[in-house]
Amino acid sequence: SQAHSSPTHVAVVGAGLTGSLLACFLARRGHQVTVYERRPDPRTAAAERGRSINLALSERGIDALRRVGLHERVLVDALPMHGRMIHPVDGELDFQQYSIDGQRAINSISRGALNNALLDAAAATPGVSIVFEHRLTGLDPLVFATPAGEAKASADVVIGADGAGSAVRGQLLGMGLIDESVDFLDYGYKELTIAAGPDGDFAMDPGALHIWPRGTSMMIALPNPDRTFTCTLFWPHGGTSSLASLGSPAAIERHFRAVYPDVVPLMPNLVEDYRLNPVGLLGTVRCGPWQAATPGGPVGLIGDAAHAIVPFYGQGANCGFEDCVVLDRVLDETGDDFAAALPLFEARRREDVEAIATMALNNFVEMRDKVASPVFQLGKKIEHALERALPGRYVSRYELVSFSTTPYAQVRDRVRRQHQVLGAVGVLALGGLGALGAAVAKGRRR
Ligand code: FAD
Repeated sequence: SQAHSSPTHVAVVGAGLTGSLLACFLARRGHQVTVYERRPDPRTAAAERGRSINLALSERGIDALRRVGLHERVLVDALPMHGRMIHPVDGELDFQQYSIDGQRAINSISRGALNNALLDAAAATPGVSIVFEHRLTGLDPLVFATPAGEAKASADVVIGADGAGSAVRGQLLGMGLIDESVDFLDYGYKELTIAAGPDGDFAMDPGALHIWPRGTSMMIALPNPDRTFTCTLFWPHGGTSSLASLGSPAAIERHFRAVYPDVVPLMPNLVEDYRLNPVGLLGTVRCGPWQAATPGGPVGLIGDAAHAIVPFYGQGANCGFEDCVVLDRVLDETGDDFAAALPLFEARRREDVEAIATMALNNFVEMRDKVASPVFQLGKKIEHALERALPGRYVSRYELVSFSTTPYAQVRDRVRRQHQVLGAVGVLALGGLGALGAAVAKGRRR
């Protein structure tokens, strides 16, 4: 992407992960970018309690960072996770590597450190200014609530990168220019911490993403550079067995001893964390169109503001970063005409985002239920055998999503074709394997 002749003044709303990276991309094209962020500068303010402390960064996100020269800086503190470590209620841990050679890894990184690195990079890019404590309250004209009162602003183009609860999206909705649907899961999440061990080292293997699949609930843990792990417990909001059902310290302890026995000794602050940390919501945001021509100029949506997804494929931020690459590309193609580029961005990107939204929902079932089942484990072994036998021709969905930049919709279609071919040649064989798996499962239960 090269600088272009007539710079546009772009207001990016939201200096989260997507907004800060987008500012870098746009300013590199020669545009004048002002980023408006509701929060105070996170580089100087204290972190909020219980807001997803780390996240898994994989190839799509890394590819976007590479394009603005940020991948090395960001990956310095990353902890590579080469597979899943399954924790059964009792019995042995089971490590399932992500790729056949065991080399490929997704990266646990601190959300705060990543956001700060992106803010530093944006602030250091000529043409970017970042304004904190500015909460968008009006779009046409642009109005922000600030500690000093209302502030008005102007821009040629506005891009909403203000997350799942996007105010820009809300404004477009209010103007009757777009539609939206938000599907919340019955599940919420709560973050808990596994402390460093007595010797100051990691209390579990830091080279894995840990999963406690329990059917109706699930917990995962990702390592942090300070040798702790952040656990995320996914559980229904209400009901007899739910996030709301543990009313006393004794009930919390009792539940964890029964369902997650191996973590209780590793969580010295379990009761306090459980009681104080907030419950997060999980949902899928669908809206359209992602852009509109307003009297004030073109307005677009990007990242979670356009398409928040559930976190079970670890792709939300990766997808938002990939959005920036796609928008950069369509700006190339349209000679930086935002009025043409924003609809083209949507045309290019919508099917991919729908595909990952669905895959993320489906992966929840896989993670909370299937990873523990012998049939699933057998299936993964067969998949790895096929990948070895047909290198480059049979590639698993997980591998294509996490370790490639193949567009998500192509991943979905390719995996469907692979399964069809498999089905055609091996209905009988697979049926046999299914029966074998079921027999193994039965045998284990006995
Ligand atoms: P956000 O990160 O939400 O940023 C939006 C920004 O806009 C914020 O800074 C906010 O303060 C600001 N803002 C909001 N309203 C206004 C306003 N009115 N005016 C001005 N500013 C405003 N993704 C992954 O890739 N890998 C993972 O492992 C992963 N794990 C996750 C785990 C959990 C539990 C959750 C909930 C999400 C996870 N995600 C993960 C998804 C990821 O967090 C999001 O996709 C990502 O943060 C989206 O970035 P964003 O910049 O679009 O939105």
